[in-house]
Amino acid sequence: MDDALDVAYTWDPGEAMGAFLEGLRDGRIIATHCVSCERTLVPPRKFCERCFRPTDRWEEVASTGLVETFSICHVSWDMRDLDPPELPAVIRLDGTSDGGFLHKLGEVAPDDIRIGMAVEAVWRPLAERTGSILDIAYFRPRTAGGDA
Ligand SMILES: [Zn+2]
Repeated sequence: MDDALDVAYTWDPGEAMGAFLEGLRDGRIIATHCVSCERTLVPPRKFCERCFRPTDRWEEVASTGLVETFSICHVSWDMRDLDPPELPAVIRLDGTSDGGFLHKLGEVAPDDIRIGMAVEAVWRPLAERTGSILDIAYFRPRTAGGDA
């Protein structure tokens, strides 16, 4: 018996998330800004949940940041061994002030990861980008001196 699901579906991400995903395809991280609380929100939201009002403008933020927290996963969600382990992390992007950007780390040994470590996005080649969070392959430690 073939138990594979054969269904087509579409999903409307909405204006803010749509702009965010389109930006990723272009190698840009798009945020919204609220002038009332001076927060830059990424992923972008059309509404500031702190001030209870619409956000005021779009902004592009840096693809660099600091590791806020991380995990070292040796087992997948469906109980398969992961070797090498996956390294999910919450990253506070430079210039943003609230929330965290969930992604994964690469080009780093698990024992070398530190809270507060400076990281930078590694983008997939332009031809491979699809307008997905995975257009960023992973974040890697920033080399001293910045741009690699
Ligand atoms: Zn606000």
